[in-house]
Formats: sequence, structure tokens, C-alpha cells
Amino acid sequence: MLLEENVPLAPLTTFRIGGPARQFVEAHTPAEVAEAVSHAQSRSLPLFVLGGGSNLVVGDSGWPGLVLRIAITGIERRPGETDGKAIFDVGAGEIWDRFVSEAVRANCAGIECLSGIPGSVGGTPVQNVGAYGQEVSHTIESVEAFDLKDRQVRELCNEACGFSYRSSIFNTSERGRFIIVRVTYALTPNSAPFLEYADLKRHFEGRESAPTLAETREAIRHIRARKGMLIVEGDPDCRSAGSFFKNPVLSEHQHDDLRKRAEVKNLTIPSYPALDRSRKVSAAWLVEHSGFSRGFGFGHVGISSKHALAIVNRGNATAAEVLALRDQIQQRVEEIWGILLEPEPVFVGI
Ligand SMILES: Cc1cc2nc3c(=O)[nH]c(=O)nc-3n(C[C@H](O)[C@H](O)[C@H](O)COP(=O)(O)OP(=O)(O)OC[C@H]3O[C@@H](n4cnc5c(N)ncnc54)[C@H](O)[C@@H]3O)c2cc1C
Repeated sequence: MLLEENVPLAPLTTFRIGGPARQFVEAHTPAEVAEAVSHAQSRSLPLFVLGGGSNLVVGDSGWPGLVLRIAITGIERRPGETDGKAIFDVGAGEIWDRFVSEAVRANCAGIECLSGIPGSVGGTPVQNVGAYGQEVSHTIESVEAFDLKDRQVRELCNEACGFSYRSSIFNTSERGRFIIVRVTYALTPNSAPFLEYADLKRHFEGRESAPTLAETREAIRHIRARKGMLIVEGDPDCRSAGSFFKNPVLSEHQHDDLRKRAEVKNLTIPSYPALDRSRKVSAAWLVEHSGFSRGFGFGHVGISSKHALAIVNRGNATAAEVLALRDQIQQRVEEIWGILLEPEPVFVGI
């Protein structure tokens, strides 16, 4: 393995922000992951695991230890089917959208609505990536991960991953314990696409024949590009970490309070049912109705001109500027709506 020193991290992130890694190494196999971990542990270097860098805010002074970039590739479909499912074993370092494209080409349903999400396959279980009504928790069969506790590779079944909205054990209770090396997906061959979301229904309105998986994938990429949520070379609105805040999940009582605040202003909050009698409300709506409209500028950072939920790097931005805008938005939203928005990206070295 090639160990490098003082490697700039900004170019390895979609935000294009942040200082260097003191040390940097890429692992192409689980054995190399083990080797990198031993290197970090024997020198007491703090370890950060990097995937595609699409959900990160890296601090201006960078990372004081070892950054381990997972570059384990490979998409393998097992022969035959298991309980009517096509099983794919995918290396954690594969580009997520490449896997979605392969699955759609093989006419396997289950992840078509997750087309166009940047990042690696290994990054998807971490925050239970989701969009347009699908989440990876619906199709992940198991996750193979290197356990830093006993330095063994172990297999975690779907239930053991503790998935919920934008959450799993990997970013909550067991944060920092596992390095994901492979993810196994169970997809449904020759099945129809999932077309429940309003944006998608609108896209196909008036069509006589049912859309195929490939058409659904293209529709999703098209819708995402319109919102600045697809990485398009040269589009300044996608120099971001995607949605910067999670949609708040509120109890009935909290939701009532929010509704009353909105009624006073003659407004209706977009919300939809979530689990256990709770409701999920649109964080984008809260941000926009707190004085931060699309295109809002704040030094070298701002809000995407296509989506109120994305903080964007307008060129030469620093992490300090991102944090200042985050704080401003959180304070205003809390003052006006009584809700503390929770950021979605991972803060590294901050
Ligand atoms: C334009 C844009 C649109 C987006 N749209 C969506 C969306 O629709 N839905 C959604 O859910 N997300 C979205 N995201 C966020 C992001 O793409 C996902 O969270 C993605 O899965 C992150 O994967 P990554 O490989 O880039 O992880 P990174 O950003 O590199 O890392 C994120 C976290 O995962 C950990 N991690 C990464 N790989 C591994 C591994 N192999 N083992 C252990 N830990 C690991 C890191 O340590 C870090 O804590 C979007 C981002 C952008 C920039």
C-alpha cells in the first residue's frame, strides 16, 4: 500500500472544502484495510474512513491522523435466484450510481429511485441512503465489515444494522467501530419500478404504457439535475454535500405546535406521516420560510439556486463559513418555528 503524507482532502469531497490529511492510504482489499488499521493503531493516529466524500464537511485544518480511502471494487451477481431475489455482492469502494446502472440494465428493481446519488456503495448503509420512496434498508441483505474491536471481518444481517431514517448503527451506537468492505443487495428481477413519489408521477403523467426501470432511472436523474442534486460538471449548485439538514421527525404534539405557528402566518407546512404516529416535515420549507431563499449568498458560501436544503460552495469557501451559515440557519429556524434542525453531513476534524 502506498502511504502518502499531507494529502489535500478538498478534491476528494463533493463540497471541495477542507484541509489535508496528515497521512493517507487507499485499501483495495479487506487485508489492506486490516494493514491500514494496524498502522494507525500502532502509531496512535486517529483514523477516518473515506468513501466518495459526498456527505462530508472537512475542517479547514484537515485531519490530524490517517485517512483510509476504501477502494474495494467489484459487482458480482450470484448465479440463480434466492427466494425470487437476485443477489449482488458489491465492493464498498464501487461508485454507487454505477451499481444502480448495472442493476437497472439487468432489469432488477429495488434501487432505481436511488439513481444519481453520489458516493460509494460502502457509504450507503451508513446513513441508510434514501430518495423518492426507496431506502437501501429495503434491499440490503447483509453488510460485511471489518470490526475494529477484534480486528475481524464479520457479516451483519439487515436487522443488525439498525436502520431507520438517515440512520444505522454505523452512524449512531457503533459509530467508528466498523469499516464496511462489501454490501450484499437482494433485488427483484423483472419487477416494476417504484413510482409513488409526486415528482415521479408528474414526470410520467399522461403516459399510456408503464415506465420501465431504465426510464425511471433517467427520470430520477433528470429530476435530481433540476434540483442541483446530481453531480454535473460545471454546475456550481452541486458543489455541496447534498441536503444539509435532515427532515425533522416530530411527535404529534410538536407537529401541532408547528402547525399553529404556521396558521398564524397563513401558511401550511408540507408534512407526511412517519413511523409511530410521528410526522416528518420538510426541512427545505422551514429553511425557506426563515429568510433563507434559494440563491441566498453569505461570503463564499450560500444556498443552492435550485434547492433550499443544499448549502453550496460558491468558490474558495472555507469550512468555517459553512459552519457560520449552518449556525445562522439553525438559530433562525429555531426562533421562528421552535425546531432545531439536525445537520445531515458528517463533520470531519471539526
Ligand atoms: C449532490 C448530492 C446529492 C445527494 N443526495 C442524497 C440523497 O438523495 N439521499 C441520501 O441519502 N444522500 C444523499 N447525498 C449524500 C451522500 O451522497 C450519501 O450519504 C452517500 O451515501 C455518502 O457516501 P460516500 O461514499 O460519499 O461517503 P463519505 O461522504 O465519504 O462518508 C460519509 C460517512 O460514511 C462513512 N463511510 C464511508 N464509507 C465507509 C465505509 N466503507 N465503511 C465505514 N464507513 C464509511 C464515513 O466515515 C463518513 O462518516 C447526496 C450528496 C450530494 C453531494
